[in-house]
Amino acid sequence: MKFTKFFIQTQKDAPSDAVLPSHQYLLKGGFVSQEGAGLYNYLPLGKMVLDNIRNIVKEELDNAGAIEVQLSFVTPHSLWEESGRSETMDKEMLRFKDRKDNSFVLSPTNEEAMVNLVRQRVKSYKDLPVNLYQINTKFRDEARPRFGILRGREFLMKDGYSFHTSTEDMIREFNLMEYTYKKIFTRLGLEFRVVQADSGAIGGSGSKEFHVIANSGEDTLVICNSCDYGANIETIFEDESEVDALNELSYEELQNKKIEQKCSCGCKLSFKKGIEVGHIFQLGDRYSAPLKAEFLNKDQRKENMQMATFGIGVSRLIAAVIEQNHDDKGCIWTKTTTPFMCEVIVSNAKKEDELNAGLKVYEELKENNISTLIDDRVKERFGFKMKDFELLGFPYAIIIGKKLQENIVEVVCRRSGEKTDVAIDEVVAFIKDKLV
Ligand code: ATP
Ligand code: MG
Repeated sequence: MKFTKFFIQTQKDAPSDAVLPSHQYLLKGGFVSQEGAGLYNYLPLGKMVLDNIRNIVKEELDNAGAIEVQLSFVTPHSLWEESGRSETMDKEMLRFKDRKDNSFVLSPTNEEAMVNLVRQRVKSYKDLPVNLYQINTKFRDEARPRFGILRGREFLMKDGYSFHTSTEDMIREFNLMEYTYKKIFTRLGLEFRVVQADSGAIGGSGSKEFHVIANSGEDTLVICNSCDYGANIETIFEDESEVDALNELSYEELQNKKIEQKCSCGCKLSFKKGIEVGHIFQLGDRYSAPLKAEFLNKDQRKENMQMATFGIGVSRLIAAVIEQNHDDKGCIWTKTTTPFMCEVIVSNAKKEDELNAGLKVYEELKENNISTLIDDRVKERFGFKMKDFELLGFPYAIIIGKKLQENIVEVVCRRSGEKTDVAIDEVVAFIKDKLV
């Protein structure tokens, strides 16, 4: 992609309410733009990251045997009365009426709608188990939309729902999804923890959360320094005000808090901050009972389906990647999430030899399937282009500059800051080597 033909507008400043790096850099880099409180547009670069994440989520879920669908974003309000969640989730649901006075909500989550779909189609134990998922827009009228797309009102979620003939089979799928989620977050290049969680408004029994470890996280976790035990403090402290007080503390303040208790493995426990990027629940018949999602068992008797539900915050993940991967200059994308793997920076695009050499390298990278942006802007100075590269955070830059006379270009690694002089004929092989 050529910078001059693309749609990137970087900005010097972020609005004053943007306190977190992800919020600042996503706005300054023109990945997203704000449309209203908790409402964001995805501009081309942001859409590319979103699609990268979405594709990895889809690939791993399909691999695990889950089946993709797409439900209506608008859900009849009557379904929420059937499940009894109309009241518990009342404030978060945006309700409206159509011209015939029927009540609807913008889906904040889709347990009810999915149960409705499955109860109409699945009649026998022979049709089970089934695991259906979608990657679709959600709307929650959050009390405090903040931190940009970390807590938006409209956001993209992967939500999956599985249906079973027995609790054992539901737990088997729950474990498979835990394994699959770990694969997803590992492929995204994230440092994360799986922790015991509170089931909240969704209801049901067993539940685990997946947290990206980041100092700016809104949740407080207790984790073992040696085994993989971890818990959200919501599950440890009875008193909600105690939980709120700890959540209000910054990461630095938390480090001064000692935990007397030891992990069951005998090792030290410590506090960390986490961003919740996934949540899986064992629901049992929490929804199938009130919504009468039944099947005929082998003895031709009716039983409630056993259900589990699995969520991933797809758009939140964009911000989570940045919270864990940035410096004071900008984003540092992981290799699987970055919009472009490489940027060719033509130092002075007025010079024909520089521009042509840049274009040649750019074409060769493309032929090698390395996604590349070429900064071919004529008016911008080199320093400005470099600042944009650092803000946008692609893994590598190839700078075509003064040393071109000697057939040498400079490769910059965004993460390490390392700079290497490479012969122009060898630069594509050099980059390819870095990517294996
Ligand atoms: P939180 O405690 O952060 O509000 P939640 O418990 O309400 O999350 P779930 O109902 O389990 O979240 O939704 C599944 C996933 O959707 C969450 O793990 C999170 O990653 C994402 N998510 C939830 N609310 C938002 C939001 N307002 N903006 C962006 N992503 C969200
Ligand atoms: Mg919530």
